[in-house]
Amino acid sequence: MAGARRGLESLLRLPSVSSTVKNALDSVLSGGIISSPEVVDRLLNAGPDEYEAICVAADELRKAQVGDAVSFVVNRNINFTNVCVKRCGFCAFSRDAKKSDEGYVLPIKEVVRRASEAKALGATEVCIQAGLLPHMDGVKYLHLVAAIKEAEPSLHIHAYSPEEILYGSKLMDLPVSEYLKHMKGAGLGSLPGTSAEILDKEVRNLISPGRISVDNWLEVIRTAHGLGIPTTSTMMYGHAEKMSHVARHLLLLQQTQRETQGFTEFVPLSFVSEHAPMAQPGFRGPRAKPVTVRKGPSRVERILVHAVSRLVLGRFIPNLQVSWVKEGLEDAKSILECGANDLGGTLMNESISTAAGSRFGQLQTPSQLKAAIRELRRVPVERSTTYRVLRRFDVDPAADEREATGAAQSPLDQVQDHDERFGSYATLIHDERFKYDNDFSTRLT
Ligand code: SF4
Repeated sequence: MAGARRGLESLLRLPSVSSTVKNALDSVLSGGIISSPEVVDRLLNAGPDEYEAICVAADELRKAQVGDAVSFVVNRNINFTNVCVKRCGFCAFSRDAKKSDEGYVLPIKEVVRRASEAKALGATEVCIQAGLLPHMDGVKYLHLVAAIKEAEPSLHIHAYSPEEILYGSKLMDLPVSEYLKHMKGAGLGSLPGTSAEILDKEVRNLISPGRISVDNWLEVIRTAHGLGIPTTSTMMYGHAEKMSHVARHLLLLQQTQRETQGFTEFVPLSFVSEHAPMAQPGFRGPRAKPVTVRKGPSRVERILVHAVSRLVLGRFIPNLQVSWVKEGLEDAKSILECGANDLGGTLMNESISTAAGSRFGQLQTPSQLKAAIRELRRVPVERSTTYRVLRRFDVDPAADEREATGAAQSPLDQVQDHDERFGSYATLIHDERFKYDNDFSTRLT
């Protein structure tokens, strides 16, 4: 994209670029803040020339705010159960214990084994998220964190969405703040800011009635930040929302970050529709009303949403992640040229998007991520969960040569049959060892 780009100044002179867009870009590039929902909505509804100008401006802003590095984290996802009491319309991962025999629960021993295996392969983080088990005991969420920490003290535990924290705290009859203090004491390092989707009551009621409310989501996030527990921030878009909802979501995150400074990154997540219940014919929402959902955002929309996110949030949340699981590595590269500066994690296991129909697999090795970043003439950086630089891979022909011959590859690069080694969602839901049954609870002790 960079090669075909026109300069920003000539783009801003075009009559097809409105004064609202021009003024917003001028302002943000000279250190201003975009805080009007109408302006953000206008940017998100850009025409073709405006779209190009927004992308160029977002790229310039990215360069000024975080430079040319593109970061990634070596991590592993562990979704310890797919059994869930909720019925989110976009979720193809969860199973209803009463209606499906594809429910699984990983014993603590297996979760710890997976974490130790990841550590031995160079991971610095495990990301733990799961369904909300019926008859769960809130203390078991704490046991899980403590067991991983005991086995692997140096691993960063990035665990539990605000929805899971709220669920666990209610099960233990504790205020969120007390529950989070226990979590921190057990070894929790940070929270994924998932379960946000679109932070708007109307949209949530349509796509996931019964999901954590906007107020509760903000309460968990603000409480975590107040306790020194950082979180990420996310948005899932391309379904039932309008651009005005996206605009308000971005500004709510901006406002929260200005108050707490606890977000480490923002990750726009495009809706994967293929197997999502609410995208299937005949799906009915609350009170049996038909729900109209789009089948995910277009490519242009995905690029535009990332670019506008840089403009609105970059000054406050400098790290903008593009998810290779959602976008694929090719489109992720285009998005890295329009405001993003992070490629997320290696993952090793990916079940949630894969179950919904994502086709981009469950692992990108450090070498694959580095190669993609170098194609853009940017500098790969391995980071920690909280964006501390762990290794910077500046251009070094000797090191490239060693890597090409395998001599300097990371242990994760050398794993040959990923699915066999790490397992896949398709095999997990039929694995008799982990089948959900009424006795699951003893396994989480
Ligand atoms: S998104 Fe989470 S809470 Fe909702 S159904 Fe899926 S696993 Fe359960």
